[in-house]
Amino acid sequence: MECLKDMWELQNTEIEMVKLRREWAQLKELLARDKDDELAAIQKSLNEAREQWRTAKKNHDETVAEIEQISRKLEQLNCQLYEEGGQSKELISIQQNIEQLEKRKAVLEDRQLSTIEELDQLEQRIADETRRFQRLEEQKRSRNNRMNLRLEEIRAAYGDLKQRREELRAIIPNYMMAIYNDLVAQKKRPMATLKGDCCSGCGMTQTVLNVNALKKGGQYTRCSSCGRILVLAEAVNKGQGD
Ligand SMILES: [Zn+2]
Repeated sequence: MECLKDMWELQNTEIEMVKLRREWAQLKELLARDKDDELAAIQKSLNEAREQWRTAKKNHDETVAEIEQISRKLEQLNCQLYEEGGQSKELISIQQNIEQLEKRKAVLEDRQLSTIEELDQLEQRIADETRRFQRLEEQKRSRNNRMNLRLEEIRAAYGDLKQRREELRAIIPNYMMAIYNDLVAQKKRPMATLKGDCCSGCGMTQTVLNVNALKKGGQYTRCSSCGRILVLAEAVNKGQGD
């Protein structure tokens, strides 16, 4: 019975279509649930680091400006001290002033060093996080590209299978299609191969009559237990590479 081979191919086509539909749905779900959370976390950390850097830079610049101001003031005072001389009362006042300014300058110079260190660390952190962000974004992009390519492949393959299914349905006799559809409606794969003397669908041993009808006559036979249409694996897979 030649149509058995077509029906077997129809079943395989439909199984393949179901697999592709499932893969399609999985890919769609994966594409929807992407790694945006991780990217957003890095972005947040980057923004924080940049904000900290701005604050540190402001502190640094203010410190530097104040040091310069004090240096100028010290220069003036030293000039006054050595050039103008003046009364001893004034001298003491100038010297006290100089001492205070020197102390303040030392504090500021320490602060300048620590802000420079802080700025270095922040710049390093910004560079690292930026690299991480770019790497992750790149991974995401190539992963999405791969998935989109696969979706295109699936779409094309599914279209081919759908067309083949229509062709097969058209050439399989109606009364055989009716049996096939009835089994599908019972949520069964309609076709099963004979494994030894058993139905590969339900495992039930078949009568000698049934087995012989199939093996010798290649006749249309159904499993006496589950009702599946039985075929010989070697007959249906002939010329299909296995
Ligand atoms: Zn069976």
